[in-house]
Amino acid sequence: MGSFWHPFSDMSAVERGGDFVIARGEGACVFDADGNRYLDATAGLWFTNIGHGRAELAEAAATQMRTIAAYSSFGDYATQPTLDLAERLAGIAPVPGSKVFFTSGGSDSIDTAAKLARRYWVEMGKPEKTMVIGRQKAYHGMHYAGTALGGIPGNTEGYGVLVPDTATVAWDDVEDLRATVERVGADHVAAFFCEPVIGAGGVYPPPVDYLAGVRKLCTEMDVLFVADEVITGFGRIGGSWFASTKYGLEPDMVTCAKGLTSGYLPMGAVLVAPKVAEPFYRPEGGVWLRHGYTYSGHATAAAVALANLDVIEREGLLDEALRLEKTLADELGPLVELDAVVEVRCGTGALAAVQLADPAAATACAKELRAHGVATRAVGAGGVQVSPAFVMTDEQVGDLAGAISAVLTR
Ligand code: PLP
Repeated sequence: MGSFWHPFSDMSAVERGGDFVIARGEGACVFDADGNRYLDATAGLWFTNIGHGRAELAEAAATQMRTIAAYSSFGDYATQPTLDLAERLAGIAPVPGSKVFFTSGGSDSIDTAAKLARRYWVEMGKPEKTMVIGRQKAYHGMHYAGTALGGIPGNTEGYGVLVPDTATVAWDDVEDLRATVERVGADHVAAFFCEPVIGAGGVYPPPVDYLAGVRKLCTEMDVLFVADEVITGFGRIGGSWFASTKYGLEPDMVTCAKGLTSGYLPMGAVLVAPKVAEPFYRPEGGVWLRHGYTYSGHATAAAVALANLDVIEREGLLDEALRLEKTLADELGPLVELDAVVEVRCGTGALAAVQLADPAAATACAKELRAHGVATRAVGAGGVQVSPAFVMTDEQVGDLAGAISAVLTR
C-alpha cells in the first residue's frame, strides 16, 4: 500500500486498483510508465493551456532558479519577474488599471478575494457588509472561504460551520440573487462570486443574459462582483484572455490560477479593479492589507508565467481555443444521439461535458476510456470532462469523440 493520499479520492478504490502514474507529457497527450499514449482530455485539471513538455518553460524556470529562485515580497521587497508579470497581467486585465495580488493557486485567490471584499467595505465605512454569496453547482476551491461559497453537494458537508455570513443562490437565475440580496439587505452583502462558465460543477455555460444580469444587479445593489476565472482565464473561453472581457463584465475582482502558468508551477493571482484597490493605495497611507503568502509573487513561478504568456501570444492560442469550441461542438455534439448520453454541454471555448443518462456510470466510463487511449474523469453529476490543451488538433478531438462513442455504445 502506498503512502500518497490522493485528493478527492476514494482511497479504498485507489488501494485496490493502484495509482495511475503519468510519466510524461507532450502537447495534448500524456504517457504512462509503459509508454502508452493517452489524449489528455482534461489538460491535467483544466490547466495545461499551452500543452505539455514545453522546454521553453523549463528553461525559464532553470534560468530564474540559477539567478534567484524566490524571495520575500512582503513590505517593499520584490523580484523583477514578479514586477514584470504584474505589469503584464494589468495590461490584459478585464478592467484597466487593475492591481495584481499574487497567490499560490486558485483556492488562495478565492480566500484573498473574500477577505479583501470584507476589508474593502470596512475601509468604505460599511463594516456590516460581510455576506459573501456563491451559486449552486459552483466550485471555488477548497480553502474555508471557497468551500463555504461552493455549491456542489458533498463538498460543503461534514465540516461544521465553514464561514459565517455566506449564502448560496440558484446557478442560473438572476432573480434568485436579487431576492437573496433583498432578504438579507444590500447593506449586509459584501460580494457575489461567479464562475463565468461553471467548471467542476459540470461545465455549465451561463444562460443567455445571465452574466450581464447579475453584473448589473451587483452594480445596482452596491455588491462587489467577483469573477472566478480560475478555469476560464488565460484563453480557455476562446478569443480573449478572460471570459469577463468577452462578456463585458468589468468585475471588481478576478480570481485566477491554472492557465496563468499552464500548471508548470503553482501560481495564482487576484486582479483587483482600481475601485477596490483605492482605499489601500491612498497617499496618506496607514491602510494596508495584512494578508499574503510566503510564495506570493514567487520569482520562478512568475518567470514561468511570463514564458507561458509568451507562448499563448506567439502561437495565437486564444484563437486556437475558439477553433476547439467549434470542433468540440462538431465532434462531441452528435454523441447526444447515443442512448447513454442525455446532453452535451459545449459552446464556450475549449470546454465541454458529455452528460450521461446514468450519472453513476461516469467514473467507470472515464476509467474505461483509458483502454481507448483517453485520460479523463467524471465531472459534476455524471459528466465526462473534455477541456483539452489549446494545441489539441481537430483530428485528436475526433479520436476523442470516437473513443467516448465506442465506450458508451458498449
Ligand atoms: N475556482 C475554480 C473555478 C476552480 O475550478 C478551482 C479549481 O479547480 C479553484 C477555484 C481552486 O483552485 P486550486 O485547486 O488551484 O486551489
